[in-house]
Amino acid sequence: MNTLQTDILIVGAGPGGLACAKLLAENGRKVLVVERNKTIGSKVCAGGITWDGLINHVPERLIERGFKKQYIFSNAQKIVIREKNPIIATINRKTLGRWMAEQAVRAGAEIITNSRVSAVNGLRITLHSNQLQSREITCTHLVGADGAASLVRRSLNIPVRNIGPGITYQVNGSREQMEWHLNGRAFGYGYGWVFPHRDTFSIGAYSPQGNMGAQELKKNLIRWAAERGYDLQQEQCRAAMINYDYRGYEFENRWLVGDAAGLASGLTGEGIYPAIVSGETVARRILDPAASDAAIRGMVKKQQMHHRVIKLSARHPAFSFMLMEVLIMLLRLRVVPFRSLEMTS
Ligand SMILES: Cc1cc2nc3c(=O)[nH]c(=O)nc-3n(C[C@H](O)[C@H](O)[C@H](O)COP(=O)(O)OP(=O)(O)OC[C@H]3O[C@@H](n4cnc5c(N)ncnc54)[C@H](O)[C@@H]3O)c2cc1C
Repeated sequence: MNTLQTDILIVGAGPGGLACAKLLAENGRKVLVVERNKTIGSKVCAGGITWDGLINHVPERLIERGFKKQYIFSNAQKIVIREKNPIIATINRKTLGRWMAEQAVRAGAEIITNSRVSAVNGLRITLHSNQLQSREITCTHLVGADGAASLVRRSLNIPVRNIGPGITYQVNGSREQMEWHLNGRAFGYGYGWVFPHRDTFSIGAYSPQGNMGAQELKKNLIRWAAERGYDLQQEQCRAAMINYDYRGYEFENRWLVGDAAGLASGLTGEGIYPAIVSGETVARRILDPAASDAAIRGMVKKQQMHHRVIKLSARHPAFSFMLMEVLIMLLRLRVVPFRSLEMTS
């Protein structure tokens, strides 16, 4: 097997890996990104992005829809959060992926798609590619940006215990309202959503670890949607796990970003922004080991706050539904700002 030597090897061309690649390449480092899928951006996702967080990272033209109002439903309440400026927007993951990949390549990074890393041994990986023979690559820095089931993370023997299923159906048609449904009967202490895109909308659900398995969540989502006139049996179901089990990101020239690092929110499932910010922070730390990692620490603090709500709900399931109602009331009264649910620090 032939062996290739590179400087920085990034496994995974999701938002975390691409953000990291761009910044490193811009600063003159030799970067190779390997991605198992043929197409970049085909990730299972509802495409909701927090406006404050991502607007600084992507051009406005990539935004599909922006929402100044959020509709939140529970068993007992229906509230509308209104802001002067959009609070959340939707984005097409393929469009985001294509744009981020272009940026990284323009900066000088090399991206190889259709190539799966099958083994990781320290700073040496084995790559299987359709076009090329299997080969080994060694590097000076290895960045695991390979998502919730990260092989790089496994190679570091870091377990993942806090991980929950997310399910989405991308349905043709247009919807006006961005909706969050905290329906304990259907989604436990997770939630369901309707996120409108340009000509489609995502309807889906997420549930934190230990609350509801993927099959039960799917069954409940289909029933819940049918009660609202959506026939999801006719649509394509896409599901994936969301990792919110953060246990560090820096391991002697081996790094984890985004879902691989467990940086998504366990409460809301938001993970695109944490992936981009952690990708950039890791790039800065590779360039300068003294660079600040305040952005990651800020997100981890937020994540831990979300974690405490999940733990409380898991310990007292009956109480959790009351907690949800209280949370919604506090959101309505603006005692708790909607932004406190976002991963922006
Ligand atoms: C149903 C659902 C809905 C969601 N909705 C939202 C939302 O609305 N807003 C939000 O912010 N977040 C959402 N998320 C979470 C969000 O999708 C992730 O947090 C985000 O994509 C993480 O980015 P990443 O770059 O860390 O990883 P990913 O986007 O998962 O990218 C990892 C990449 O690595 C590649 N890869 C994996 N293994 C290998 C390997 N062995 N070799 C080579 N390549 C590999 C994958 O193909 C992939 O391209 C949702 C998740 C789910 C499941």
